[in-house]
Parts: sequence; structure tokens; C-alpha cells
Amino acid sequence: MLDASGMVERWSAAAESITGVPAAEAIGRPLARIAPGALETFERERAVDVFAVSFPAGEGTGKPLSGRARPLVCAGKGEGWVWVFRDEQRLREIDQLKAEFVGTISHELRTPLTSIKAYTATLRTNPSLDEPTRAEFLQIVEQEADRLTRLVDDLLVVARVDSGLMLKRRQRVPLQELLDRVLTNLARDPAQHPVRLDLAGVEVSGDPDRLYEVFANLLENAVKYSPKGGEIGVSAERGADGAVVIVRDRGAGVPEGELPYIFDQFYRVDNHLTASAGGSGLGLYIVRSIVRAHGGTIDVCSNVGQGTTFTISLPDRSA
Ligand code: ADP
Repeated sequence: MLDASGMVERWSAAAESITGVPAAEAIGRPLARIAPGALETFERERAVDVFAVSFPAGEGTGKPLSGRARPLVCAGKGEGWVWVFRDEQRLREIDQLKAEFVGTISHELRTPLTSIKAYTATLRTNPSLDEPTRAEFLQIVEQEADRLTRLVDDLLVVARVDSGLMLKRRQRVPLQELLDRVLTNLARDPAQHPVRLDLAGVEVSGDPDRLYEVFANLLENAVKYSPKGGEIGVSAERGADGAVVIVRDRGAGVPEGELPYIFDQFYRVDNHLTASAGGSGLGLYIVRSIVRAHGGTIDVCSNVGQGTTFTISLPDRSA
């Protein structure tokens, strides 16, 4: 906010971060000195849009910002201006992310819906289909409905994660019980994807429903990305101030360059395996958010063609 002479009166925290100029340096100085591109407004008492304002002294990104000034008029007299700066490049990036989000979700919603529609139509229009074929088609419809439910559940969890409402309760959770429940519901062929548990009676401290999501997602990935089978292992031990749980598989692995990104929202490694396995790229984002909400950490190491290991540390109390 500027006074009638163009001197900065107020400089918000958002202005500090977008321009890189601290409030202490801006307040009391003419805006024209801090941002040469913004000068002309002070000569004409009307709203002005400027498309490239730069802040040479700022420690921001150095990118020009767009600026929009509106005069503050009180009883017909100009009292100053309010300036709003926008990082257009960042806004374009956000628009792009939104478009990608809608694209990914639409695709993920449409794929199971298309199958459900096709199989139900076939069942309805072919009453003479033999019983095994009918049973097979119905099973596909059910699986696709489950896939839709999982996606919608993931989206709901992400909405909760993003609004910070994560842990409903905190209690001691025996890992064996938790993993037994996860394995009961895990879609896999146990002969092709055997899971070995070595949990040594370890208990973790946390919200059992959220912790269920952590291990359900990690094991679902271990199955999905291990096309040739191979044993999956979950082991646990007590560390200095909590539990350490390791989930490892002997699957496809993740290329080193991709590892920093796999916990990002909607990030999926671009290869034939992810294309055929399906997924939203939300699983590991949810996993990491839940682990962090428990005050814990998750690390990954992976070798292409050899497998992936996730190490989760869960403190007995959140930090
Ligand atoms: P999704 O499985 O829906 O794609 P995730 O967030 O769970 O999303 O995982 C992000 C990406 O990380 C996956 O697309 C996959 O490429 C890679 N990934 C995750 N877990 C494994 C694993 N156990 N083995 C190999 N790649 C994995």
C-alpha cells in the first residue's frame, strides 16, 4: 500500500516473498525506486496494469512480475494506491498442474467406467451367455468398481491430508494385526507374490486407520510393480525412540533420477509398467503425508531390475 506521494506504507509478507524485498527495506521508500517499472502510476491517478515489473534489489526469483494498481480514493480525494503483484509464470504453472490433475483423474475415472459399461451392456444384451462367462464378467465389473472406490478414497484422503486433518486417534498398534488386515484385502496371487512378515512382535504408535493406508499402499505397489513375482518382505524392529519398518520387493525398481519425485502428488514413472498397472500417482504422496503426520520419516532406495526398499521410522510420540 502506498501513500499519496507513492511512498510504501505497508508491505505484506506475501509481497516480501514474491518480490524478495523485505518489508524493512520497502517501507518508507518510494515504490518507483524499488520497482522502476511501476513508476507511471504515480503520474496518473487511475487504475493501471503493468506487465513486467522487476525488483532489481529483491532476492526473489528475478522473474518480472505483473502488477496491478488501484487508487484509494476517499471523499473524492486520492489517498494512495494498493498494488497487487502476481508471478504470472507461477500462475501459468499452477494452471498447467490443474489441467494435468483434471486430465489424470478423468482418465483414471473413465477407464474403469468404460469397462463396467461394456461388460454390463454385454451381460444385459446376451441373456444366453454361459454361467462361467457371466461369472467372469461380473468379477471384472466388481474389480473395476473396487478400483474406482480406491481412487475416490485416495482423493478423499488427499483432501484430508491437504487440510491438515490427519490423525483421529493415537494408540499402540501391533504391526502383525495391522499387516494381517492389509494382506487379507490385498489384491494379489499369493503364489506369485508371496509376502513374508518378520515383525518380531513390534508395535507402532499411531492412528490405526491411517497406518493401514500406509502399508496398504506400499504393498499394493510392491505387487503392482513386481510383474515377475518375487518375494515381498515386511520386517520391523525397535529403534532408539520408536519402530523402524522395512517394506521391500524384488520388482522393477525405480530409476535413480526418478526417485526424488515418486512421493510427489500425481507423479508416476513414465514406463510400460506404470501404464499397464494403472494408478493415480497419489499413493506415495498419501503414505509420506501420513508418516510425517505421525512425526516419522520414510526413505527409499531402489535398483532397476532388482527391487525397491522403503524404510519407515515411526516415533513412539509425534515430534
Ligand atoms: P501409482 O502407483 O498410483 O502410480 P504411487 O504414488 O503409489 O502412484 O507411486 C508413484 C510411482 O512410483 C509409481 O507410478 C511407480 O512408478 C513408482 N513406484 C512406487 N512404488 C514402487 C515399487 N515398489 N517398485 C517400483 N516402482 C514403484
